[in-house]
Amino acid sequence: MAHTCAICGAEINAFQSQKLIDGNYICRKNCQSKGMKGYFDFMHSRIDEVNAHIAQVEMGTKIFNDLFLPRFKAKKKARPVEFGSVCVIEDLGLIALAPVKYKFIVFGKHYPQACVYRLGDLLSYTEEKIDKLPDGTDAPKDKKYVHFAFKETAGLGDFYTPIAQPKKLADYFNRLYGIQKTLGNIGNTWKNQINATKAMVAGVKAAKNGDEDAEEKAAEAINSLDVAIYGDRTELNRRAAIALEPYQNL
Ligand SMILES: [Zn+2]
Repeated sequence: MAHTCAICGAEINAFQSQKLIDGNYICRKNCQSKGMKGYFDFMHSRIDEVNAHIAQVEMGTKIFNDLFLPRFKAKKKARPVEFGSVCVIEDLGLIALAPVKYKFIVFGKHYPQACVYRLGDLLSYTEEKIDKLPDGTDAPKDKKYVHFAFKETAGLGDFYTPIAQPKKLADYFNRLYGIQKTLGNIGNTWKNQINATKAMVAGVKAAKNGDEDAEEKAAEAINSLDVAIYGDRTELNRRAAIALEPYQNL
């Protein structure tokens, strides 16, 4: 039976179609290939989520080509930190998912697609066992997968990717966010927890007394709790805002 692609309107047969969870069909050749098939779960997504992801990849690839690519040839200190298909540039406050393709004709690496995220939005980077890949095929048993999850992100907001050394990756991000729980760094974690407790007490008191600023105090408490759990992201968010500013109105 023929279908119509919900994005480009092309007439497609069953082999050329990807069915979405909302009953829409999209064409594999033009529209699905604009997304990251190895990471984005098309089968369980709605058309608005697919559109958000395609827009995300289009913008992400542009940002990656502008800001990340030139850095691979920079001095060692300025180069992206790479973990498998994920790379980080701390001074830009950005992290990218950019799977490498090796092209026969091209000598060296090639990154056809990328999603770029703010480092400040990364909430999870832990190792998890998975059975299936997003396209429904079995996950290779010999690989370790890390689950990346970003807050308030349209499109591909979380994904699993193979990482050779998940422990090393977790140590890296814990250090970056100042939440490493080693003896040497415990002062910082403690300070954040004490601040969180103080803010919570203030928030509860304000609510009890019917203070006008109760809401503000409660927001402060939530913020401090976030800092205790996720580290202080203020500086990373500032850097990302500067780096992404030219792309805001595109
Ligand atoms: Zn299409």
